[in-house]
Amino acid sequence: MSDFQTHLPILAIIVPCYNEEEMFPITFPTLVGLIDDLCLKGKVNDNSFVCFVNDGSRDRTWQLIESAADANPKRIKGIKLATNFGHQNALMAGMMTMRTECDCMISIDADLQDDIAVIETMVDKHREGFKVVYGVRNKRNTDTFFKKITAQLFYRIMQRMKVKTIYNHADFRLIDRVVADQLALFGEVNLFLRGMFPLIGFASTEVIYDRKERMAGETKYPLKKMISFAWDGITSFSTYPLRLIFLMGVFIFFVSMLLAVLAVIPVFYGKTIQGWASTVIPIFVFAGIQIISIGLIGEYVGKIYKEVKARPRFIIETIKNNNSETKD
Ligand code: UDP
Ligand code: MG
Repeated sequence: MSDFQTHLPILAIIVPCYNEEEMFPITFPTLVGLIDDLCLKGKVNDNSFVCFVNDGSRDRTWQLIESAADANPKRIKGIKLATNFGHQNALMAGMMTMRTECDCMISIDADLQDDIAVIETMVDKHREGFKVVYGVRNKRNTDTFFKKITAQLFYRIMQRMKVKTIYNHADFRLIDRVVADQLALFGEVNLFLRGMFPLIGFASTEVIYDRKERMAGETKYPLKKMISFAWDGITSFSTYPLRLIFLMGVFIFFVSMLLAVLAVIPVFYGKTIQGWASTVIPIFVFAGIQIISIGLIGEYVGKIYKEVKARPRFIIETIKNNNSETKD
């Protein structure tokens, strides 16, 4: 390897695959070709590779990965998960296993809906010093009307819940190895990766691309999975829904006070039904108090939830004049 080569970053492309036997024969030569091309252009190290993570596929995906890896061991690696763990976990498995083998990695779906032409731009941005490069879709013209609306609603809610997310960014991104090392410190089980990188920090930028339609096979994200993923995104990053209960309780309590006054006034005019005010007022007041109490418990549950996640409290990028470092 020439001296020039050793300075180039080793790129790993991580591809989660679930029942992708139709897509794989197109995906692997495309990505290998792309890496060969980037090597020729002197943008990435010749040891760069693609890693396919088989997420418990029930079709022939793993056999295909194995034979491709046998035929081209330099460029193709494969990880076989024991069963189907889901897209996010499969991606995590790929990144955590390969982070010691490369300098930067790009995650991309097996269906190549994301434009691989911007991978070169991502690599360029990484060379400029960005540690995270988010792939961002410029428009959603390949989406159905329903998906467009629900996606927009999702980003809106996330914003309201004070969760930092990159608008129109899914899981097509480049990360530097140092970012992957930090990601390893996040011990959570309910993964929502796109929400985690903004938490980690480091210099980041975006590249814009058009998302295409799936070339072969069908979506592995039916509506049910999409909703549960969105729900995970909200509940894994925000305890705001719990606070809403508390606020709702306070609101109901004050409304009940107002209603209590309104219920009492007719008493002075003697126009009431016997026992009505004394029955209804406690119902109002106690409803408010109960919801406040639930909300208050929610506040603590939220804190416990954050504690058990054991996320790192801070992430240091560099330390200047670090003694412990110079001693080594
Ligand atoms: N995938 C996975 N495990 C799953 C579901 C999906 O590894 O349980 C992979 C799938 O093979 C693909 C990527 O995740 O590479 C995204 O899935 P898909 O393209 O079906 O989702 P969509 O683009 O329709 O949201
Ligand atoms: Mg897709």
